[in-house]
Amino acid sequence: MHKIQNIVVTALLFTGLAACSSSSNDTTDTSTETETETETGTETTGNFDSSMFGDALISNEEVSCTLENGSTTTCYEITFSANGVGDSEGNGTVGPFCPESITTPRNEGGLGSYDGATTPGFQPMMDAAIAMDADGYDIVDDATGNIYFDDLTDRNVDASFSYCLSPPFDSTLELTYLVPVVPEVRTEPFQVGTIDSVGFGVNGVPIKGNPPSVTTVEAGIGGTGSGNIPSLDVCGGHPDPSGYYHWHNVPQAVNTLLASENYNYTEQYGLECSNPNIAFDEPASFSGMAKDGFPIYGAFDSVDSMNTTPGNVATVDACNGHNHITDEFPNGVYHYHALESTFPNIPACLIGSFVSRDVTVR
Ligand SMILES: [Zn+2]
Ligand SMILES: [Zn+2]
Repeated sequence: MHKIQNIVVTALLFTGLAACSSSSNDTTDTSTETETETETGTETTGNFDSSMFGDALISNEEVSCTLENGSTTTCYEITFSANGVGDSEGNGTVGPFCPESITTPRNEGGLGSYDGATTPGFQPMMDAAIAMDADGYDIVDDATGNIYFDDLTDRNVDASFSYCLSPPFDSTLELTYLVPVVPEVRTEPFQVGTIDSVGFGVNGVPIKGNPPSVTTVEAGIGGTGSGNIPSLDVCGGHPDPSGYYHWHNVPQAVNTLLASENYNYTEQYGLECSNPNIAFDEPASFSGMAKDGFPIYGAFDSVDSMNTTPGNVATVDACNGHNHITDEFPNGVYHYHALESTFPNIPACLIGSFVSRDVTVR
């Protein structure tokens, strides 16, 4: 029966997963899978299908590439327009970001992740600014209650103040990703660090790790430890200083996060992502592709019928991933889920190898 054949193929494809902690098979996976592919006559074993991605997709080719594990393999080279979340901030599809003052309603400003002493964590930007001010970062004008703002377009700001940061969005940019066609399982999972690339969403928008620290200088990461705080919009994204918009969340699951008991921001403040370019009301939806070539889904798992949290659902691993049949992958696929109630809600680790410089912006 057709279904049994599918399961066999799936088992072959993901043999490496069972031996996650063993390194011996990793480099041979590619050849094994290629042989399987040839024998069965399947056109591709990869997880990228242009029909799953939106109108921002410009092109997709297969090219030779080298992964950070040293393996030379074939990668998808996928180019998207940066306008997959809308044309500009003016159209209201991204933002709002920095609130004007500490009396601005919370749902008219963005979100911030503050890592200082007073009320640290993921919160409305207004609350983050008040907490920063309490910790001695002069981000609130005491006379007016206004929050100091910097769009990073020039550096002519008074460094004795702290700022809410919000660069302008340049929707004319293009983003090109390199993703292995046949994923290769790493010896140890890759732990996603601050601003590390995770992959990209269905509309080609980059998904990244934690936004930069406000209080601590981290080696190799620009713009951190500055006492300034980057704003996120309610979908968990913002423009980079170079202009491209990106997410620090899996946006299809950000409403699950905002409504979770941890935060309760939807009920308290009406915070809810509603960008029409995001399946914000489908928490189980296909959400994008990780840079190791495995797909990413929202927090709700259609098989377990619950939101996923590493360790809380019997079938997910430490990277909040597992293997089963989905609507998009009827043969079954290893995939990550967004986290239910932790910011950022991205998978904390990736099991597969990837191209070190997996995304180029131009
Ligand atoms: Zn960012
Ligand atoms: Zn699943």
